[in-house]
Amino acid sequence: MLRIFYSPVFKDHRPSVYHPERPERLDTAVDALKARGLWRNVAEPEMASLDDLLEVHSREYVERIQNLSGSFSMIDPDTYVSPGTWEAALKAFGAAREAVFSASGHKGIYLALVRPPGHHAGRNGRAFSAPTLGFCIFNSVAGAAKLAEELEGEAVVIDFDAHHGNGTQEIFWKNPNVIHIDLHERDIYPWSGYEHDAGGRGAEGSKINIPMPHRARDDDYILAWRGIVLPILEELEPEVVVISAGFDGFLGESLTTLQLTERFFSYAGSTLSSYSLAVILEGGYSSGLKKGLPAFIDGYLHGDIQEEPIKPSYEAIRAVETVAEIQSEWWGVRLT
Ligand SMILES: [Zn+2]
Repeated sequence: MLRIFYSPVFKDHRPSVYHPERPERLDTAVDALKARGLWRNVAEPEMASLDDLLEVHSREYVERIQNLSGSFSMIDPDTYVSPGTWEAALKAFGAAREAVFSASGHKGIYLALVRPPGHHAGRNGRAFSAPTLGFCIFNSVAGAAKLAEELEGEAVVIDFDAHHGNGTQEIFWKNPNVIHIDLHERDIYPWSGYEHDAGGRGAEGSKINIPMPHRARDDDYILAWRGIVLPILEELEPEVVVISAGFDGFLGESLTTLQLTERFFSYAGSTLSSYSLAVILEGGYSSGLKKGLPAFIDGYLHGDIQEEPIKPSYEAIRAVETVAEIQSEWWGVRLT
């Protein structure tokens, strides 16, 4: 079962000058899905309500965005708002919640193909030590996780965007019911998500950060996926998994040094095929949308896991071992 939540309204959030987070990203994604026969069961999502937003953001932040999005402006050096931003961001948030609602009723993959992205947006805007909002407006994945928690008692979020999902992590830092596993390139924007960051008081072990080395490849990510992500999922056996799906770690994308290909994204999708997924688009600007996104969905739908031998780098083995050692206090993760 594949259903896609999409609206042309997502393209009304637009920059006044060139910016990598631009409306054409969605055309790239739609074309890639069409080419693979994956553009099907497309539904127009509802806009989220103000009350939905206020479950994860402060009223002050929400009102600030609403007031600013009457015209074109930069709210920080990375992030813009425009006429259309308010509706697009509310609809993106609504689409993410609908994906969870559907996933919890009927097993399948539910894709919220949305803009603007959200995982860097914290309760009041910038999260932890981040200097900017990193192209994000409202944290749709946090809204999805909140709904999953309401429906299932617990939410599981996996964020494989190349950057750390600092906003999501900040919002749920002290919430032990939201298990957040985050793979990302270390020591780049937003400069958070280190191994020892495992959750706030009362929520220790609910946040699993896997900072990967620069230039990490498929084998490095598969090692982390096998060693950390899958054992935790097997322990939790969630009905629904929320995916903060960024494809900016794909080879040829220019914002990070990661070198992932279809092999990792297809593998990741296939290993999740026994779960129901709410997949919410984050980053991905070119090759990641063209190749990584369809590979992930195809991997899920086919579900045949290719357990090939891998040759991870020394740095990746060290990184995964460190995470496993820290997280073994709470989880049955395998030391490699
Ligand atoms: Zn990113």
